Amino acid sequence: MSVHPMLSSFVPSRRLTAALVLCCTVAACTNAPVTGRQQLILLPESQAQQMGVEAYQQIKSEKGVSNDPRYTGPVQEIGRRVAAVSDQPGLAWEFTVFEDEEPNAFALPGGKVGVNTGLFKVAKTKDQLAAVMAHEVGHAIARHSAERVSRQALVQAGQQAIGAQYPGMAQVLAQASTLGLVLPFTRSQESEADHIGLMLMARAGYDPRAAVDLWRNFEAAGGSRPPEFMSTHPAPGSRIDNLNAIMPQALEEYQRSPYRQG
Ligand SMILES: [Zn+2]
Repeated sequence: MSVHPMLSSFVPSRRLTAALVLCCTVAACTNAPVTGRQQLILLPESQAQQMGVEAYQQIKSEKGVSNDPRYTGPVQEIGRRVAAVSDQPGLAWEFTVFEDEEPNAFALPGGKVGVNTGLFKVAKTKDQLAAVMAHEVGHAIARHSAERVSRQALVQAGQQAIGAQYPGMAQVLAQASTLGLVLPFTRSQESEADHIGLMLMARAGYDPRAAVDLWRNFEAAGGSRPPEFMSTHPAPGSRIDNLNAIMPQALEEYQRSPYRQG
């Protein structure tokens, strides 16, 4: 899902960018959980988490937080169960419901997850809600925000190198670029979050087939103005195909889960 626009104030300084580039020479490649994809992450985890915590505080202070137990009940239960079976159960996980009609959710570094009340119009069962939340947990544990910031920092560094020779060009490029946390997740990160999410929800005892139902609901609810995240995310059709391709594996995980109910 998308990153909140308020994160635009969390733009790393030039000094941080320089530090990131310096780190480049010693940075080790990491591997994403579940998929094992190689990632280059230059942003120290502690720093990413700090940015996540600050952004989450800001969003909570500026948006209405719902205390309606019809929403917070399932969100807390699903959040607890999915985080517990993730690769990082020890993160300071937090799941907050925001009063927002847009059917959307988001994840920030450090295990900070937001779910809009509008999502309940599309995620009609607990398993479907778990599909969205596990997807968000997937973004968080795969450190997608830090990966994006790292990539963006390298782009900026490249621009500054060009700037040494062509100052005018560098300025144009710098103006055109927006830093990591502000940008939506990339398409491959979205597919990866779908993959991780499907395995996590199954492991936590939620029926993974509900992920396909969820995307059908989104497709049906499309309307004239589709949910914001659908424009940056893979089309529901290809998303469903990708989910179905790994469904047998997810169903095995589901059958094995000690948390499965009914
Ligand atoms: Zn997403």
